[in-house]
Amino acid sequence: MPNGFKLLTVFGIPIYINYTWFIVFSLVVWTLAMGYFPQMGPDYRPLTQWTMAFVTAFILFTSILMHELAHSYVAQRQGIRIKSITLFVFGGIAHMIGESRSPRGEMKIAAAGPVLSLLISGTFWGINYFSKMWMNASSVPTISYFLTITNLFLALFNLIPGFPLDGGRILRAIIWERTGNLSKATLITSRIGKGFALFLIISGFWDIFQGTFINGLWLIFIGIFLQQAAEEGYRQTLLHRTLSSVKVRDVMTAPAIVVDGDITLDRIVNDFFFHYRFNSFPVVSHNTLVGIISIHDIKEVKKEMWPYTLVKDIMCPDLSAFAISPESGVLEALERMVESQHGRLVVMKDEKVMGIISQRNIMQMLKLKTDLGRA
Ligand SMILES: [Zn+2]
Repeated sequence: MPNGFKLLTVFGIPIYINYTWFIVFSLVVWTLAMGYFPQMGPDYRPLTQWTMAFVTAFILFTSILMHELAHSYVAQRQGIRIKSITLFVFGGIAHMIGESRSPRGEMKIAAAGPVLSLLISGTFWGINYFSKMWMNASSVPTISYFLTITNLFLALFNLIPGFPLDGGRILRAIIWERTGNLSKATLITSRIGKGFALFLIISGFWDIFQGTFINGLWLIFIGIFLQQAAEEGYRQTLLHRTLSSVKVRDVMTAPAIVVDGDITLDRIVNDFFFHYRFNSFPVVSHNTLVGIISIHDIKEVKKEMWPYTLVKDIMCPDLSAFAISPESGVLEALERMVESQHGRLVVMKDEKVMGIISQRNIMQMLKLKTDLGRA
């Protein structure tokens, strides 16, 4: 879950701000006010410097958000759900549910961010050009110059062809289209990503030896971050590849053990939880599913009350949250489990309980497939 708080919602996507973001925001404001602006125009008064720094940093971070929104907008138009966007230390991350099914689609999503950053850079270049001609105040040209350069840098940095950077995603889509092999394309581009990360880390140490300590530290920081992102991105893709063809009915436990909603908690604990050692059970009434009950629900109730409390009174009755069709893919099941925070889903067909699927079922299948080299 995003480690931060919700700022606003755009295109139905919640935007979160990670706590590390505040440190970076303050650092940027401070660097601008104390270092950059005094260099650009020695006559600024302190209040002007700090106001300019704050406004510039704010626009810069809005640009980063717009970069992420551009990716998200194009992805949404392809039917991919965007769960949230988190702004954090090095920019933003869009949490997508699902991946593009075609190389062309993936290419469009990846290119949208850098293209928008280039557009923003171009806009500030125009503002800079005309404000120099028409305005006497020097703050607008100075700010717009800075934003032209930073947005250009943002576009170019992201176009470096190492996965999971945007450029790496574009290259991956090209290799994917040529070879038809997404795993191979991901492996190649994530290696380039790791190579680039290593290059950043080494340059960082070099900088430190040369005496530019802060610069070096930043490079090492970004390098380590990229390194981990490349590794994680590769693992994610493999997981998706391996599980994309597996259906819920292939891994579910069937038949499911169901309980009657009218029994008491002490009975369900002794006769079901201890006996079968499952974490939750579907609850039925007159042969139709009415809810699900888990150990967590029972722990909420004091032990003395167990003989007097009925299962149906404390179960989760929201069927849409935990029922899934046997024909659904296991990836969808995994997403639903994470989203609803139910470790298990009830497999339903024509209002009948067919079985139950847990994360453990899915992980066992994953292990089996990997062990047998069918991934
Ligand atoms: Zn991007």
